[in-house]
Amino acid sequence: MAWLQIGYGPVGQVAAALLGRAGHDVAVFERHESMYGLPRAGHIDHEITRVFQGVGAASFILQDAFRCSTYGWRNQHGDRLIDIDWSQEGVSGWASDYLIYQPYLENALDAAARRHPTVSIHQGWEAVEDSAPCRFRGSNLRTRSNKPAGAVEFRRAPYCARPLFNRCRWS
Ligand SMILES: Cc1cc2nc3c(=O)[nH]c(=O)nc-3n(C[C@H](O)[C@H](O)[C@H](O)COP(=O)(O)OP(=O)(O)OC[C@H]3O[C@@H](n4cnc5c(N)ncnc54)[C@H](O)[C@@H]3O)c2cc1C
Repeated sequence: MAWLQIGYGPVGQVAAALLGRAGHDVAVFERHESMYGLPRAGHIDHEITRVFQGVGAASFILQDAFRCSTYGWRNQHGDRLIDIDWSQEGVSGWASDYLIYQPYLENALDAAARRHPTVSIHQGWEAVEDSAPCRFRGSNLRTRSNKPAGAVEFRRAPYCARPLFNRCRWS
């Protein structure tokens, strides 16, 4: 099955890797020219670690992660606002929580997606659509990019994945 995917943040990287692992043909379009390279997310739990395990990336990610057994918030006076005990094992077979550095995590997920020959990743392309988002599934998609139009072979894809819809810009 052929997929056209918009966005290549961590969710898009996992989606591409999972689709590729299942043998699907995936063309990913990401507006940034390269990986974002700055941390946003700070930690992951056992369930998402299991998802990363499923795409073959968990061991790489955990090389640069720290197991987090307590998590707390304090106000400016040092008064306790919240304390969470994460010292137990999670039911997914991993620690309850890990602190991560997102650029390293994304590098590992990027490698997991690129491992599949049916996944092609096109960075520096912003998807724009001239019709209602609900018609997106028809794959009448154009990209706006300063790359020459012939740089990417455009295929019609019957299915579309939008890992992050609300930041897409529709014109
Ligand atoms: C300041 C800050 C702190 C945060 N802290 C945490 C935290 O502590 N823990 C946590 O879990 N999360 C945190 N987050 C959220 C964190 O960003 C997300 O967990 C994670 O990055 C979301 O991944 P994503 O793939 O859904 O989205 P994104 O990382 O935003 O990826 C979406 C991608 O889609 C691309 N895209 C969008 N529209 C188009 C288009 N039209 N054409 C082409 N490409 C497009 C974007 O360029 C982007 O690369 C934080 C975010 C911020 C900003």
